[in-house]
Amino acid sequence: MTATTERIKLVQGDITKCAVDAIVNAANESLLGGGGVDGAIHRAAGPQLLAECRALGDCRTGQAKITQAYSLPAKYVIHTVGPVYHGGAKGEAKLLASCYRQSLELARAHECRTVAFPAISCGVYGYPIADAAQIAIGTIREFLADNGLPERVLLVLFSASDFDAYAAEL
Ligand code: ADP
Repeated sequence: MTATTERIKLVQGDITKCAVDAIVNAANESLLGGGGVDGAIHRAAGPQLLAECRALGDCRTGQAKITQAYSLPAKYVIHTVGPVYHGGAKGEAKLLASCYRQSLELARAHECRTVAFPAISCGVYGYPIADAAQIAIGTIREFLADNGLPERVLLVLFSASDFDAYAAEL
């Protein structure tokens, strides 16, 4: 295990319960909430989150924006829009890597020591979990190798099968 890997931890559970500096939301381009982890985050944060998101405008695929976290135990929510998976030849991998990189850059800019990510694009957006795990872990490792912040990254997987796919990659 490398030093960089020691800064990445896998957890099976609900990201809305994570008391970290920033949790990442797998949002859609409207930033106005949706199903899956996005819906869970908005429900747990309360209506002020939607009000702040509305004021931010939309967010392009592969990009990220940061808000306060209101009633969540985290300090910030970083909203990033993963690609919809269309078979893998439509630039999905680059866009997914960009989500992780931009989210980490925002976390660093806001001096976050701990950040938690869900499996972006792996729900309704259909990204194959093993391929997504490779991109997530590879991009995070690269970023951590070059940066002291964030100090630790949690990868929060909702299901046991997603956890196993990430564990195989890590
Ligand atoms: P996307 O539209 O980017 O695919 P989804 O929310 O549909 O986003 O799914 C992304 C991942 O988040 C899926 O692997 C899903 O199982 C997971 N997920 C759903 N709810 C939660 C939660 N409360 N905490 C962590 N992960 C969650």
